Parts: sequence; C-alpha cells; structure tokens
Amino acid sequence: MRFAVLFILLSAVTASGQKVDRTIAVTIDDLPVVSTRRDLNNRIEITKKLIGHIRKAKMPAIGFVNENKLYSGDSRDEKQVDLLRMWVDAGLELGNHTYSHRSLNAIQLAEYQADLLKGESVTRELLGRKGAKLRFFRHPYLQTGRSMELKSQFDAFLKRHGYIIAPITYDNADYIFSRAYDIAFDKGDPELMKKVGEAYVPYMEAKLEYWERQSMKLLGREMSQTLLIHANFINSDYLDDLAAMFKRRGYKIVLLAESLKDEAYQLPDTYIGPAGISWLHRWARDKGREFVVPDEPEVPEFVLKLSGFESE
Ligand SMILES: [Zn+2]
Repeated sequence: MRFAVLFILLSAVTASGQKVDRTIAVTIDDLPVVSTRRDLNNRIEITKKLIGHIRKAKMPAIGFVNENKLYSGDSRDEKQVDLLRMWVDAGLELGNHTYSHRSLNAIQLAEYQADLLKGESVTRELLGRKGAKLRFFRHPYLQTGRSMELKSQFDAFLKRHGYIIAPITYDNADYIFSRAYDIAFDKGDPELMKKVGEAYVPYMEAKLEYWERQSMKLLGREMSQTLLIHANFINSDYLDDLAAMFKRRGYKIVLLAESLKDEAYQLPDTYIGPAGISWLHRWARDKGREFVVPDEPEVPEFVLKLSGFESE
C-alpha cells in the first residue's frame, strides 16, 4: 500500500495515460525581501518563513539579489546582509539581479553593466565563504534589450565575467498578489488577506497548467520548467502550498543548473520587444504566432483592483 501511494505522488499521468517525469526549478527574485513591510523585524520574519518552507519541502532554490537593499546611504547595513546569510547558511544558491534593479531597455548598456558588477560584491563574498561561486544572472523585469546587437554585446560581457543567463518559462504575477496581500495587511484585514491567499495557489496552478500546454504546443513534450517568484510576503505564507501543488502534479523540484540541462534551453532568444516575457513565449513567437497558446490565465479582478496595478 505504501508503495502504491508513493508511486502516485512521484508520477504524473497525461490525459493519454502516458507517464511523465516533470521537473521544475524554483528561482526567487529581489532578495533579500520585496514588500511594503519595510521594517527589519518583518523582513526577518519573511526571510525565516520563506527558508522554512524551502527546507521543509527539501527544495533546491536559488535567490537573485539586489544589493542596493544591503546599504543605508553609503554604508553597508549588516542587519540586511544577515538576511542573505540566512539563505547561504541554509545551503541555498544566490545569483546576481543587478545592484539597483533597472531595466536593460531603459538605460545605456555600459551603465547597466556597471550596475550589474556593483551588485556582485557582497553576494560573491558570502558564497565564497561557503566555497560556492556566483554563476547566474537574472535580468530585472526580464527585459533583455531592444536589439540583437545589444543582446550579443551583453552576452559577450556576461561570458567574460563568468555568468550564465537564468531564463524562466513559468511566468506569473505573484508580485500583484503580494502587493494586494501587503495592502490587506496594512488595512488590518485578515479576512481579505485570506481571500487573496486562497486565490493565489489556484491561480498559480492554472498558470503552470498553461505553461505545460505551451510547452506541448511548441515542443511536443513537457520541458523542465523554471519558475520565477519573489521574496515577498505572500510567498512567505504560501510557498509550502505551492510546493505541495507541484508535488501533486508530479513535479520533482530540481536545481536551476539541472533544469537548464533540458535541451530546449539551447533554443536562441531572439526576442527584442519591450516586455519581459517567458522564454517559452519567446521561442513560440520565433516559430510563428500560431505556436503561442491563447487564453493565458489572468489575475482575478478583485486582486488586481486591490493591488493598484492597472493591468498584468
Ligand atoms: Zn526583480
């Protein structure tokens, strides 16, 4: 009986009855914390809870850091650096998300590259103490440049500095939910927080199901997915529910480096539009608009309104 249960937990079966081995990498942006709850105690609490969920689910996650959050004025704030130490002490990998989270579509390449290098010093130091190396880079807003010439210049820069681009496939708007959750908290309205939280996991599941279909449409198979979420308030309360949802769908959570071994990630990224979009949509658009799966799930209206974001 125990074996039968284990089999159900570890396997997913498609509509045609075929068993699939699903894998997913969890990447968490805007470390140490992104929330309107700015005081240190809240930031410590959010960090502790996030890492608690990660540990409980034995989830090999990577966090992408904005080091400007580690300074007050010109001086390094060790209390903020301690938040990052908690990630590293939990055995988690860190990556570079630039110092000040500006868009490659909005500033000059030279300025962007300087901001990227400015954003690696503390992260490199903390990883170095554990014998680990800084190897991944994530573009803020997933905005990757408006011309192929700029993209190839930047690629050469990344290569020179030993970075690998961290793409994502499983795009979503967790930040809109988290803003709504922050606002409900600030209003002192736990009922509303609960309502937002309870809409979050079904939304994330609908999104994942969408990206599974998008992968099937483009590749004829389910590729290893890469999830982007943020180090925010709602995930500090719901990351364990997300992890349970992944397991229920037959996913094994793997390291980013492991997920990227899927050969689909070798497809070129030729997207030079203004948006920050999933790599699955980049590749699908490259092949032809008819390969983009329609009706991507949207954030529920009440969450969108509460968050103050005009549109996703
Ligand atoms: Zn970010």
